[in-house]
Amino acid sequence: MGIINILDDNVSNIIAAGEVVENPASMIKELIENSIDAKAKNISLQISSNLDYFKIIDDGIGMDRSDLLMCIERHATSKIKTKEDVFNLLTYGFRGEALASIAAVSKISISSRYIDSKIGYKMISYAGVIREISETSINQGTEIEVRDLFYNTPARKKFLRKTTTELNKLKDIVLKEALGAYNVAFELIIDDKKVLKTTGTSLDKTIFEIFGKTNYTNLNKFELGFLGNVESLKSSKDYMYIYVNNRYVKSNVVDRAIINGYETKLMKGKYPFVILFLEINPNEIDINVDPSKKFIKFSNEQIIYKDIVEKIKDFFYIKDREMWKPKIEINKVEENIENSYYENLVFEKKEESLNDISETLQNESIYVNNTIIESSKKNEQFLGNKPFEEKQIGLFERSDGTNRVYDVLGQVFDTYILVNNKEEDVIEIYDQHIIHEGILYEELLTKLEENKLRKKQLLIPQIITLLPDEKNLIFSNIKIFNEFGFEIDEISETQIALRSVPDFPFRKPMEQIFKSVIENILKNEYKIIDIREEIIISMSCRGAIKAGDKLNMVEMQNMVRRLNEVKRYTCPHGRPIVAKILRDELDKKFGRKK
Ligand code: ADP
Ligand code: MG
Repeated sequence: MGIINILDDNVSNIIAAGEVVENPASMIKELIENSIDAKAKNISLQISSNLDYFKIIDDGIGMDRSDLLMCIERHATSKIKTKEDVFNLLTYGFRGEALASIAAVSKISISSRYIDSKIGYKMISYAGVIREISETSINQGTEIEVRDLFYNTPARKKFLRKTTTELNKLKDIVLKEALGAYNVAFELIIDDKKVLKTTGTSLDKTIFEIFGKTNYTNLNKFELGFLGNVESLKSSKDYMYIYVNNRYVKSNVVDRAIINGYETKLMKGKYPFVILFLEINPNEIDINVDPSKKFIKFSNEQIIYKDIVEKIKDFFYIKDREMWKPKIEINKVEENIENSYYENLVFEKKEESLNDISETLQNESIYVNNTIIESSKKNEQFLGNKPFEEKQIGLFERSDGTNRVYDVLGQVFDTYILVNNKEEDVIEIYDQHIIHEGILYEELLTKLEENKLRKKQLLIPQIITLLPDEKNLIFSNIKIFNEFGFEIDEISETQIALRSVPDFPFRKPMEQIFKSVIENILKNEYKIIDIREEIIISMSCRGAIKAGDKLNMVEMQNMVRRLNEVKRYTCPHGRPIVAKILRDELDKKFGRKK
């Protein structure tokens, strides 16, 4: 007797099951992908945490009675009909094996109502053998229940890991599927507890729903998806989500391209949080190299590798340059040009020759870098009774500065600073809050950039009570807060201790500023692109003097001097900071000139 047998279907399905349904997670992956293929808009998964019950409900096109009877047959697929289909679609892994394999090793019940049909059907199969098929009442779509997975293949069951491990793998798969199919609404319910929910609205929203606000904040949109900030580095590659034509895949080539794209930004053993969506002609990929369809092969690896590396590098090149640049929105400034008396404009830095400078000095005008003290003496009558050392605002550090020639005339309405710009024959009116904010912004930025922002230890740590979201935000960005000089310890579920704060001449107590920075970030979280920038913006806004604060002459002079040094002529929110009255306009108004 010969030793070669043709395996009967049941046996070969069980062998195939070993390949396709390795564990509950891979089974769920197949079921979800079938629902997506059936054009479902909503997919609901209900699972028992001990992994002996799985249910998936979708609202896809469904199956009619004959499809239902066919679907668990080996090589049953509605997705390949012609030879051309094989080339186009086989690449996605349609082999008509999944349901047959799952059915072979479980007790399965599949109910479905086809899109055109009024009647639904329910089929029950044990170990791949159909037990019954009957009419059932069901919405359009498909509902599959799987019980006792691997009950007839004890050897395979033994290979399963600890239930919690398998459950985690399953959750991970659902996450990846929900992310890839971001236009489909997903819910995952484990033992009646909803553990994941997406609304299927957009990729952005889905990322937000899956990973939470803070992670979303740390991601930057770029041409191929999202790139995590270097503050959100991970210790494994698990957070590099790669999708090819919306299917989650693994690829060593793409992994290497990402790592190379981040280059020196990655510390040893660290990997970025990346979500990548690649669109590649199906003819140029092969997913079937691996039966579980995770590893993908590209026919043109080189091109794909180079393309990804370049796009990531380009993104960081631009971002790194922009990161420390104020976001001046010229349009906003231009929009604000008003009538003939006032002219809001962006200063242009004027290069002065040495001659001009000495002339300036002779003319007794204020040469901002050298004669500040003298000029303050000159304006002593404005100082009032407070010794000016008392208040620290405006006592900024010196830098090269510009050499503008002007007189600070005084403050009006406790809100605006009047300056006679002698070079241009104009009166300049500054909003004191806006210029102070702009100066603080530039100083913080520069200090942070140059690593010169010192911290001040608090004698008694400040205990702050926070909401869970607020605490979460702090600790997921703890490195950034540390960079600013905030040392923070968690002391309970709801409390933190602030041990040190940035050493910086703000107007308000740092603890207050800290709290409002957190509130502000959370309020705008969905919009925020760069958390560091946002911290700087809100600290400078909260730390600056307000409209209505009286200023003395020295403070005003220092502020105007610093403004010229930092050369920042719009506030971090893009508002203009200066209005001008031209001498010409006055002359005309008083009939001195036509
Ligand atoms: P494949 O997905 O490779 O075609 P499967 O074994 O996963 O093979 O599924 C077999 C067939 O059963 C599919 O081609 C499809 O026609 C049908 N089917 C499976 N799941 C669903 C579903 N959720 N909704 C509608 N049809 C389905
Ligand atoms: Mg399938």
